[in-house]
Amino acid sequence: MGNLTLKSVAKSFGTVDVLKGIDLEVKDGEFVIFVGPSGCGKSTLLRTIAGLEDISSGEIVIDGREVSAVPPAKRGIAMVFQSYALYPHLTVKDNMGLGLKQAGTPKDEIETRVANASSLLSLEPYLQRRPAELSGGQRQRVAIGRAIVREPTLFLFDEPLSNLDAALRVQTRLEIARLHRRLKATMIYVTHDQVEAMTLADKIVVLNAGRIEQVGSPMELYNRPANLFVAGFIGSPQ
Ligand code: ADP
Ligand code: MG
Repeated sequence: MGNLTLKSVAKSFGTVDVLKGIDLEVKDGEFVIFVGPSGCGKSTLLRTIAGLEDISSGEIVIDGREVSAVPPAKRGIAMVFQSYALYPHLTVKDNMGLGLKQAGTPKDEIETRVANASSLLSLEPYLQRRPAELSGGQRQRVAIGRAIVREPTLFLFDEPLSNLDAALRVQTRLEIARLHRRLKATMIYVTHDQVEAMTLADKIVVLNAGRIEQVGSPMELYNRPANLFVAGFIGSPQ
């Protein structure tokens, strides 16, 4: 579980070709980072994997199943965005459990999963608070908790730390790394932060204008960049 294969995935908006044939293998339990300049298609690629955008052509295979026609909720995926999109009128506990409730999960099962996720993320003291009563870092942890309770095989993160200040970014990054080790789930993570990419990734995918420039471990990309674009992107601070 948690395997993903992209075969010649293309996506156009009208006449604009945003993804121009993406081929990629992601193995169970890998931490894969997408990097690339603003507008190169990182978010669009994540959204197509999640099923929030239809693809124009190609195939998306998750755990052996072609999912192009499978709705987002049935793909076994959870996505964490840069904006937390929490419901302001609901408590932390209810925000975390809402998706499960809507899916018809029994109440005691929701309780157990929310309790486990809160413990993993040290959110127990805040369960009865509302989002407005939390810091930015705590809100992002709730958004991650909401993803965890669904027990996905594949997590997608779209620049989850970019709204946090520098100290919190480091702390939350370490927490995500710890989660990855604990949950052993596959994680795909978009960032434009080179340090995040180098420290979190098993594998980095460098995107440029809708194409993959290179895929490799942080050290492979750093030591043997395929071209000047990759060298510039990995080698110099953004
Ligand atoms: P990134 O996340 O790498 O910054 P995006 O995937 O958000 O890039 O965007 C890639 C390109 O696709 C951009 O040129 C953007 O304007 C365009 N794009 C993204 N979403 C839409 C949309 N819904 N309609 C039209 N164009 C879009
Ligand atoms: Mg983006």
